[in-house]
Amino acid sequence: MDEGMPTPVPNLMNLPGYRIIAVEETDDAYHIAAETPTASTMCPHCHDLAVVGYGRREQWIRDLPMHGKRVGLYVQTRRFRCKACHKTFYEALPGVDTQRFMTARLVGWIGPMAVRRPFTHVAQEVGVSERTVRDIFHDHVAVLEAHRHVETPQWLGLDEIHLIRPRGVVTNVQECTLVDLLRNRSKETIIAYLGQLPHRERVRLVTMDMWRPYKDAVEASLPDATIVIDKFHVLKMANAAVERVRKQLRESLPSAQRRGLMHDRFVLLKREDDLTDREALLLSTWVKNYPVLGEIHRLKEAFFGLYDCANAAEARSYFQTWEQSLTADHRAAFTELLTAWRTWHRHIVAYFDHPVTNAYTESLNNLIRATDRLGRGYSFEALRAKMLWAEGVTKTRRRPLVRQSPLREQGPPLGHAQFARPPIMAADIATVPMDVGVDMVALSRQLEMGSWDGSSTPS
Ligand SMILES: [Zn+2]
Repeated sequence: MDEGMPTPVPNLMNLPGYRIIAVEETDDAYHIAAETPTASTMCPHCHDLAVVGYGRREQWIRDLPMHGKRVGLYVQTRRFRCKACHKTFYEALPGVDTQRFMTARLVGWIGPMAVRRPFTHVAQEVGVSERTVRDIFHDHVAVLEAHRHVETPQWLGLDEIHLIRPRGVVTNVQECTLVDLLRNRSKETIIAYLGQLPHRERVRLVTMDMWRPYKDAVEASLPDATIVIDKFHVLKMANAAVERVRKQLRESLPSAQRRGLMHDRFVLLKREDDLTDREALLLSTWVKNYPVLGEIHRLKEAFFGLYDCANAAEARSYFQTWEQSLTADHRAAFTELLTAWRTWHRHIVAYFDHPVTNAYTESLNNLIRATDRLGRGYSFEALRAKMLWAEGVTKTRRRPLVRQSPLREQGPPLGHAQFARPPIMAADIATVPMDVGVDMVALSRQLEMGSWDGSSTPS
């Protein structure tokens, strides 16, 4: 700051179109009296230029916070009276959103800020209500939404993510990206979403968790797409059977013994081949002490062997053999899995022709885990915006330009030969960056670090 300058205030404000009359500074705010140097004097009612001054009124306008303090402009707005139609009007204030009593640049600042930080924080910093922040946020997101053009995946994923409540999550399986978040997981919501996908005939494969409305919606909207159930969801059911038996067993034991059935239970869920020597020893102790649990564990391991099969046909017969080996008690333990097989077997074995990569499953699961502790203090719209428009997580992929304009592939229309471009050669094909969604790995990392709202401390 150069104290020798006679009029530092206008530079400080950097708000074109105003002359600063006076500045008053308090502990938490700047109160700035201002006026426009000149005003347009055209009557907004009849467009006549013959007007006379008709006094002034003070209008209070919020502006960008400055040096950590709120800023209020007190504008001496001129009033005019039209000689032609006798109506009065106020001069139009440059750079002001008159509906909101804010400078346009403040509105433009709040929008992106509200995507990154809690509404209450932004409201407090600027000195407006949370409601105002929310309104501006919605307008801002509507603009972002209108400009977001994510390429429709050839391999689409539908899964569940918990943001206050279970939500639908749409992914690109090949790119490991998040494509969208849906308010809920109902059939209607999914059908509406799939219905608006540009070039939805592009979708060849759909991976999903075993949720009936997803299947119904995909069969209705994308009848040619193949549904594939990721092995992860199937294996989870097998593990759930082991957990169920362990818990039942624990209930039936005297409390002194119960504690033992809590520790190191992961050895039951881990694949036997992956156990360390110490873990294998632990497992053998479990099996020796609780033969029922040992049985279920053995069957779980046998079931996991399904995914070592070479193809769908082999997997089907493997399952049959496995199912035939179950006793009535075993069947009870694996009910969920057996039911799922009856409903979904076609899609479960489709996995053998279209295996989902571990990288995809891992990145999705990481994202689901990372979002688990979010939610408090945010609406679904806010969480969705925070995830879809987080900084530096958008993934792009270069695509040949011709794909975007299929007409060119057919050549110019007849009769316009004089305007015809030369035929497109492979080397001529330009590429354009296409938004393929939000990188799930990068987004998870941001969520884990809590850097996305600058306030939360991981708990
Ligand atoms: Zn007039």
